Amino acid sequence: MLNLIIFGPPGAGKGTQSEKLLSKYQLQHISTGDLLRAERNAGTELGNQANEFIAKGELVPDAVVIGMVKNFMIAHPEAKGFIFDGFPRTTPQADALDVMLQEFQTSISIVLGLEVNEDELVKRLLLRGQSSGRADDQDESTIRNRFQEYQNKTLPLQGYYQAQGKYHGVMGIGEVEVIFSALCAHIDAL
Ligand code: AMP
Repeated sequence: MLNLIIFGPPGAGKGTQSEKLLSKYQLQHISTGDLLRAERNAGTELGNQANEFIAKGELVPDAVVIGMVKNFMIAHPEAKGFIFDGFPRTTPQADALDVMLQEFQTSISIVLGLEVNEDELVKRLLLRGQSSGRADDQDESTIRNRFQEYQNKTLPLQGYYQAQGKYHGVMGIGEVEVIFSALCAHIDAL
C-alpha cells in the first residue's frame, strides 16, 4: 500500500494537490475537514459539535477525528492506499494513525509537506473564502487562530516524521503543476 500524508498549514494547497495525487496513484482520499463539513451539513450531532470548534478556528477533539478516520478506513478495505489530508494534526492523532495502519498491516510510506509563508496563506484563504462560502476562511481572526493551532499542535509532527526519515518538504508557491511534479518525484523515488 502507498499511504501518504499531505502536510502543511491551512491554505497550503493540500486539497488541490491531493485531488491530483489520488487520481495518479489510485488512492483513497481522507480529508478530515471535508468529512467534518459533510457531518455538519447533514446536521448530525457529531457535525453540530464539531462546528463549534471549526467556527472558532480550533481543532476538533482528537477522539472525534480519530473515530471518523477509523470508520473511513474500515469502509474501504479494497483501498490500494490512502492520502491523509489534514490528518494527523496532533501527536495523539499521529500515534492513533500508526496503530490503525498496523491493524491494516501497513504503515505511512511518506509525508509530503507543502511549505508556504503566512502572508501568502492569509491571502489565499481570504480569496478562497469569497467563493467557498467557508465561514472559517472569511474572518482574519479565525484564520490567525487556525495558524496558532497549527504552530502549537501540528508543526511538531514535522519533527516526528523527520526523525523517521519520512518527511519531504516542497515549496508550495508557484504553478500547481510544478508543485505536483515535485511531489510525484518524491513518491516515485520510494
Ligand atoms: P481543513 O478543511 O483541513 O482546513 O479543516 C477545517 C477545520 O476542521 C479545522 O480548522 C478544524 O477545526 C477541523 N479539523 C479538520 N481536520 C482536523 C483534525 N485532524 N483534527 C482536529 N480538527 C480538525
